[in-house]
Amino acid sequence: MPAPSAAPRRPSTLLAVCLLGLGLALPQGAAAERRPFAPPGTPARYPPARQYDLLHRKLDLAFDWDARSVEGTAVNRLAPLLPGTTAITLHAVDLDVRSVTVDGVAAEWSVRPEARELVVELPRPASPSDELEVAVAYSARPAMGLYFVGPDEGYPDKPRQIWSQGESEFNRHWFPSWDYPNDRATTELAATVRQPFEVVSNGRLLGVDELPDGRRTFRWSTERPHVTYLVSVVVGDLVEIEAAAGGVPVEYWVPAGREVEARRSFGRTPAMLEFFADAIDEPYPWERYAQTTAVDFIWGGMENVSATTQTLATLHPEAAAPESSSDGLVAHELAHQWFGDLVTTDSWAHAWLNEGFATYFTGLWFEHAEGADEFAWRRWEWREDYLREDREEYRRPIVTHRYPAPMEMFDDHLYEKGALVLHMVRGLTGEEGWWTGIRAYADAHRDRTVVTEDLRTAFEEATGASLGALFDGYVHGAGHPELAVSWSWLPERRSVRLDVEQTQETPPGLPLAETGLFAYPVEVGLVAADGSVTTTTVDLAAERSQTFWLPAASRPETVVFDPDGTFLAVLDFDKPAAEWIAQLRVAGPLWAKLQAIEALGERGGPAAIEALGELAAGGHPSHAARSRAAKALAEIGTPAALAALEPALDDPDSRVRTAALEGLGSFARGTAPEELRRLIARLDAALAGDRSPHARAGAAKALGRFTDDEARAAAILLRALDQPSHREVVREAAAESLAGLGHAAAWDRLRRLAGYGAPAESRGAAMKALAELAGGDATRKGEAYDLLSRWARTDRAFRARQGAYDALVELDDPRAVALLEAIARDELDPQQRRSAREAARKLRSASSGAEDPSLERRVEDLERELDRLRRELGERGEG
Ligand SMILES: [Zn+2]
Repeated sequence: MPAPSAAPRRPSTLLAVCLLGLGLALPQGAAAERRPFAPPGTPARYPPARQYDLLHRKLDLAFDWDARSVEGTAVNRLAPLLPGTTAITLHAVDLDVRSVTVDGVAAEWSVRPEARELVVELPRPASPSDELEVAVAYSARPAMGLYFVGPDEGYPDKPRQIWSQGESEFNRHWFPSWDYPNDRATTELAATVRQPFEVVSNGRLLGVDELPDGRRTFRWSTERPHVTYLVSVVVGDLVEIEAAAGGVPVEYWVPAGREVEARRSFGRTPAMLEFFADAIDEPYPWERYAQTTAVDFIWGGMENVSATTQTLATLHPEAAAPESSSDGLVAHELAHQWFGDLVTTDSWAHAWLNEGFATYFTGLWFEHAEGADEFAWRRWEWREDYLREDREEYRRPIVTHRYPAPMEMFDDHLYEKGALVLHMVRGLTGEEGWWTGIRAYADAHRDRTVVTEDLRTAFEEATGASLGALFDGYVHGAGHPELAVSWSWLPERRSVRLDVEQTQETPPGLPLAETGLFAYPVEVGLVAADGSVTTTTVDLAAERSQTFWLPAASRPETVVFDPDGTFLAVLDFDKPAAEWIAQLRVAGPLWAKLQAIEALGERGGPAAIEALGELAAGGHPSHAARSRAAKALAEIGTPAALAALEPALDDPDSRVRTAALEGLGSFARGTAPEELRRLIARLDAALAGDRSPHARAGAAKALGRFTDDEARAAAILLRALDQPSHREVVREAAAESLAGLGHAAAWDRLRRLAGYGAPAESRGAAMKALAELAGGDATRKGEAYDLLSRWARTDRAFRARQGAYDALVELDDPRAVALLEAIARDELDPQQRRSAREAARKLRSASSGAEDPSLERRVEDLERELDRLRRELGERGEG
């Protein structure tokens, strides 16, 4: 599944969809704040031992929305693996089992709740030549795995739906089977529902039977074996839009009235399907490809075999594109139909073989459809996401058997770093080798489950490449290289001397503990005065420091290290601003420009401002180059930088306008009153008139920093609280900014916006704003604690409960630690338990004085101000 369902990424909302930090010179000290990924005592987890080969699941179930129940029979056809098998185990949780038969004969059975298993005694010992039909009659009111959503007093217009979410181990909550990805079987599902519900499930629709009582039974069948977590059902009042990709039927299922948005979100599916099938040289594997929209879906999407479930929230108005585009989500889930569904990870330890692939193939789609720059930008974002998690959360090997719960593996190491590993494989094997290797891997492992060695071996056998060092370093080892790079030109040797030092820590206990050093070939570009670039490759060895000599008849303008960002590393390249400007201006990959933009934003100065200004003012076709240049100018923060930034406010691409508008916040302090009013008026105009909700949200975020004219900024933000927008991005930003301004008069408005029944997507931001605004006011703090603790415990919306945990951390009331710990014990959903546990941990360390968020913010503000003054002084000095 992709990461979060919030656009555009996974983080704050649990979700992710499929998808923040500084790229180049990261403060190394931050590593000390990392927590362990797997706390001490976390057991190693391996695939459970199998007693049989599961051949077929046949489910005949009635779904009752009113009773929130499922009832019927599950038949598992299976063959024992060893002679003399006397009992078999099915995975099952909280099922009310009525009877069990084996080949029609009543059988003894017992439930082992602690193991989440149903054990069936076979009437006679069985052997591998036997095919047994184990039928379980049962009913259930599942708390997980199968969700019943619909209208209530808070949200009376919410459509009624029932939908399942099997990954990782949740389908056992609604039917008994072998629910672990190390076995594959075919599936039939006969689903009986009331009118007007439709049922969308996996495979082919065999028929719909009308029952005498008015209900209908939808009979679905999938004839190609697949693992159990990919079995899915969506029940809802939905309309179907038909399309086709070659001979493959393609369907989009949405609530009536959403057809235009459905075509906007899903319309590129056929082109993506054909691209993947051609590129992988493996026909689309399943009977058809459906995407069904689910209300309040807990993820962005889930790649159920032939029938992906997508969050309804991915449908968006035209004005919200391109930020809210569904293309990334659609490509991710579709790529899983090969990598994840046709070839499936054997266990959660190797889940990057699902998620790293789906993420990387999404990038490949963008490379194919939108070009090299867009692909480079995606990789840049993956790298930032992974580095943020590595810096602020924890560091772990991509493949590990030690994890607290399966879903905790689904993080930025799995998706983003996993994708970057595949890109490094491509870098090592070359274009031909990459596709040869991918095709060999798909060919050897279709219809099978895989471990990481299968991928490495397939590539090595097909292409001759040697991937051991790469996999040991980046997949089985944790972390990444941190490279300190410098160069000089020696006229007497007519050579460039390039020094590279690997400065990363090499913690004990990891596979590479002996060295923790990385080895791979890196491209280096020498930029001549006329702008021509000579590229050469140097072989980085697993050594602390290395010196390379590169022939150069004259002194290059600059040297560029790994210009296309092929290998994952944090680079500290000590070069003066003039060289970064040369790197920025030379024709070359976007990656090298993004490196230069970031470095120039940190350095500042008139020349940097001029170069960044050219870029921000339409100087590059990529939105990413322009918006990052705008962001860098905002970081420089001087009057000259403001002047250089302003043209970007009118960029035709809303992503650039958003960065520029948000950047105006950097000029909110120490500016003359008249100028302050001009900037606020500019933001006001954007908030009222920009067609993009993301640009309007950018303006609202900037207004939160105008503390020198708080009244004017707050008045605008209060109006913005009334502004509905796609996913409530404007209300969310306005709530955050009112808190940032300390505008206590917003209290009542925010309290209403945080409550059940308010727009769901901005409730979390409103809760956090309440916590911030409570500040040192004891009465307000008390009121905020009462509200937040109630929402954290009992709110019906899981995202609101999570929002309340975060807000409780912000409120910093020591009573919340016990509350959050209790929630971490009692919540059913493992994601929710993890969020509550994390919130309790943060609060404990905050209470111990290790982190005072408000103090930290003030220090950050002062540091920024100091930086700005330094740059301004430098600017005057240099200018
Ligand atoms: Zn995925």
